[in-house]
Amino acid sequence: MSGRDVADERERAVAAPPPADAGLVFIGLARTPWKSRMDCPRMGRPDGPLCRLEIFEPWTEALRTIALYERLEVLYWLHRSRRDLVLQSPRGGGEARGTFALRSPVRPNPIGSSIVRLIAVEEGALLVRGMDCLDETPLIDIKPDRCLYKPAGPPHPGDLQMESDAT
Ligand code: SAM
Repeated sequence: MSGRDVADERERAVAAPPPADAGLVFIGLARTPWKSRMDCPRMGRPDGPLCRLEIFEPWTEALRTIALYERLEVLYWLHRSRRDLVLQSPRGGGEARGTFALRSPVRPNPIGSSIVRLIAVEEGALLVRGMDCLDETPLIDIKPDRCLYKPAGPPHPGDLQMESDAT
């Protein structure tokens, strides 16, 4: 197991089932200034250090037109996390919280996401600000920030569905 130990009796680890293959493909890796988790920011910030998202072949062509968006959502695999805690205690003390009530990297499927500012597009790479992961963290996906994105094509009936239509 990688990652930290159970910190104290408030935390609870479970016998996590072995990972099933969800068929993930790593599309690249993040180059960041941080080599240790203690140095990493807990949450990326828009004025944080410049980081480089290096995209592997055959995915580089998928960067085409990405400069249309000044903000992107980046999904990454927090590969050094343990995956078996259901309760986690805050480092500063206090009641343990459920994993799904936290943005901790320790989770059954250690997916991290950050909204980043797109600073530049290079050949097969993006320069961004707003990351909070270790150097060489594998990348899962990159999408336009949902607040900037308008789906192309004709609307679907569900697009306009309001709460009053739902049961
Ligand atoms: N912004 C993401 C989110 O909200 O989903 C991640 C937040 S998480 C609190 C960020 C922390 O994860 C960092 O401070 C660092 O301690 C840890 N971390 C970063 N990269 C990691 C990696 N590759 N494996 C395990 N832990 C990592």
